[in-house]
Amino acid sequence: MLIQHSDGGGSTMQVLSVTSELYPLIKTGGLADVAGALPIALKEQGVHVRSFLPGYRIVMGKLQNPKVVKTYRNLFGQKAAILSDHVEGHDVFVLDCPKFFDRPGGPYVDETGVDWEDNWRRYAALSKAAADVALGCLKDWQPDIIHAHDWQAALSLAYVRYSKLADIPRIITIHNLAFQGRYDASIFKKLGLPKKAWAMNGVEYYGGTGFMKAGLTSADVITTVSPTYAHEIRRPENGMGLDGLVNHRAKDLHGILNGIDDEVWNPPEDPYITKQYSQLTYLNRRQNRFDLETEFGLFHDEDPLFVVCSRMTWQKGVDMLVDLLDELVPLGAKFAVLGQGDHAIERGFLAASQRHPGRVGMKVGYEEPIAHRMQAGGDAILIPSRFEPCGLTQLYGLRYGCVPVVTRVGGLADTIIDANEAAVAQGSATGIQFYPPDHFQLKQAVVRAIKLYNDKTAWNSMQRAGMRSDFSWGRSAARYVDLYRQVLATYQEKKTIKPVQRSIRAAQ
Ligand code: ADP
Repeated sequence: MLIQHSDGGGSTMQVLSVTSELYPLIKTGGLADVAGALPIALKEQGVHVRSFLPGYRIVMGKLQNPKVVKTYRNLFGQKAAILSDHVEGHDVFVLDCPKFFDRPGGPYVDETGVDWEDNWRRYAALSKAAADVALGCLKDWQPDIIHAHDWQAALSLAYVRYSKLADIPRIITIHNLAFQGRYDASIFKKLGLPKKAWAMNGVEYYGGTGFMKAGLTSADVITTVSPTYAHEIRRPENGMGLDGLVNHRAKDLHGILNGIDDEVWNPPEDPYITKQYSQLTYLNRRQNRFDLETEFGLFHDEDPLFVVCSRMTWQKGVDMLVDLLDELVPLGAKFAVLGQGDHAIERGFLAASQRHPGRVGMKVGYEEPIAHRMQAGGDAILIPSRFEPCGLTQLYGLRYGCVPVVTRVGGLADTIIDANEAAVAQGSATGIQFYPPDHFQLKQAVVRAIKLYNDKTAWNSMQRAGMRSDFSWGRSAARYVDLYRQVLATYQEKKTIKPVQRSIRAAQ
């Protein structure tokens, strides 16, 4: 329903974005950055987004003026309410359900890092309530399109698809196909979906219940966050069991590169860094570098400072770096590492920092301000991911003059121009790529980076080329707008063409 708005803006496309994270309200990774920045970019292109997210403790604490717009006496066994608010520039609906979301720990895991055992119920509740809004349960607002992000929101599309109340276009964005929300078959009957949803073309997934699967089968349009990842997930190595379905839906699959929020990640105005700088004054980074070395207990010398700011997981390839540190430090490199996740990897970095005081510094934790300081003070950011749907830290690195050293996979392949001889000679190189993601190639990449770093002309040229590159949201947001328009047009055509006309058309 295209609604007339009181702001006199005429009919504006209305989108409900369903997400388990949204920066600056709640963030564990790139999903939050994207779910936070895309609505703002879409607004500039005439699309109004309302985001639907869980009322985690930290989110409830940031609400400004919440209004109850719907209540539930029994949503998956719990009392709940949908709140509406305008906070940090976002129009949001928040599912206030203390039994599900008012907990210590993270959104998905408890304080010891173990998944909440009722995650299926928590995110089914989120999806069901979001679908109710999409289907018109509120008096004064209904979206034209529902756009779900990742498995936590994916089931909302199934609730809409199998409802008899309304039929609106459904879009899913895959931010990481490795996380799928796979559960036992027995939970299916508790989801409140009709029996026919238990099908290969529905929620059933290798005999179990698949949330991401349900989203992919229920979506009209599937997007993922880079063109290369859109290809990669069609192959078994990256499809994680869903490659067959992804191939089947290939004509509806689009790879749209993520952008970055260039107000949040903006060296001239970054409040977290000591010395702000621009493309012209990037040599001022020296002060930030010095402060970063101090913060991580590293020596102040001329050796290149590699930073890592990442989830500590197998996907990110950081375990390979742990294995290599004893060989890399003697080559004349320093490392500052920030991250949390797999405790064995965290311990590996901590042990290396003991063995190499002043050369390796490790902070275990999740600290947004330090993440900014690393980009502003590091010489190079290392991203040895085994797979990477898009990756944002390399884009922040480009903008901050912190040269990305990355594997040639997914969005890393799409965004970095490797410093081969021709690219260096032309001044177009923006970083270093290596492939495949293994110990040997990672070591070679660091060796190349050290060599280039010691050639100040080449290095400064890479920094400048990176800082010039534009990964702001404008272009990518326009692609989402195109997709929204196309899918809406298809729906409008469905409604206006009577069955008999359709059959005539089909016969032509
Ligand atoms: P992913 O979403 O797979 O973790 P991305 O590169 O897409 O990877 O996004 C990661 C985001 O999380 C970036 O904004 C990055 O700065 C941030 N980040 C990762 N680890 C940390 C950390 N330990 N502290 C602060 N920010 C972090």
